[in-house]
Amino acid sequence: MLKRLSDIFSNFFGSLFGGKKKDLPSASHDKVPGLMEDSSDVPVDTIETINVMEVNIPVADNDPGPFADPDKEAAIETEPSTDPTPEPEPPIDPTPPSTGTDTSEPTTPPPPAHTPRFLWCLDNGHGKLQAGKRSPKWEEDDQEKQFFEYEFNRDVVERIKKELTKKGVKFFDVVPDYLEVGSFLKERVDRANKRESDLPKLFVSVHSNAGPAAVGKWVSSSIKGAETWFAKNSKKGKKMAAIFQKHILDQTGFKDRKLKSTQIKNLYVLVKTVMPAILTENGFYNNKAEVLELMKDSVRQKVADAHIAAIMEIEKNGL
Ligand SMILES: [Zn+2]
Repeated sequence: MLKRLSDIFSNFFGSLFGGKKKDLPSASHDKVPGLMEDSSDVPVDTIETINVMEVNIPVADNDPGPFADPDKEAAIETEPSTDPTPEPEPPIDPTPPSTGTDTSEPTTPPPPAHTPRFLWCLDNGHGKLQAGKRSPKWEEDDQEKQFFEYEFNRDVVERIKKELTKKGVKFFDVVPDYLEVGSFLKERVDRANKRESDLPKLFVSVHSNAGPAAVGKWVSSSIKGAETWFAKNSKKGKKMAAIFQKHILDQTGFKDRKLKSTQIKNLYVLVKTVMPAILTENGFYNNKAEVLELMKDSVRQKVADAHIAAIMEIEKNGL
């Protein structure tokens, strides 16, 4: 009954926002009882908030050791895949091909290469066909505009990937293409969990936020800023969240909405991943002023730069 009501609501919401619910692939995995997809789905009265400064971030030793996250309950779904042909994995090795041994011209020695320390599972969040997850429409230069969260998340992750490739940091793109999918939530987590890696894995899910507002309306102008989520019992997740939130505030100047966690109605990607995980919410796309910022190339680059800075800090110091 609840599921039925939820489906009706979801369809209604989607139709109002122009979502193509009828085009979605099987939505059976899009809603997981008791688990939410991102911050905007979590009931406000269940959220616990702490300041970045409250998290002690000691410099870790150089041995990350075995790196499943023992501090949170997480499990890989064990049922076998029904698809006999596994999806080809995207190439993740950022090392460019060798250019041979041409010694005809003197060259300055290259700087020492970065030794990768982790495999960063980068989750760009949401599918193209997912209902909701978009701003109200507005007019600008005689054109109708609308912000789509999946597009922002993917753009930011593309920028992060580009820089990590240059820096020699290892990553795994959880959703490499603009797949014609809905939420893709369970698959995103499964792909990260099942990804084999000699390096310890860390999971970063990139989002922008939506506050409570009437359907098709903008949220109150005071609801704005950035927050970073971690699984409540994960010490490493909490430490990661503090490092990312610090860099996001430094780079973007967004209002500090602090570090957030919850025990009830938790976020799927935080509790179902078998590695330390965080979810960043970078500004509100249904805040009429902040969405204009999120549309800017310069602001998107700052959001990406903040994530890169956090990743490089953890690559350097460990976790
Ligand atoms: Zn989201």
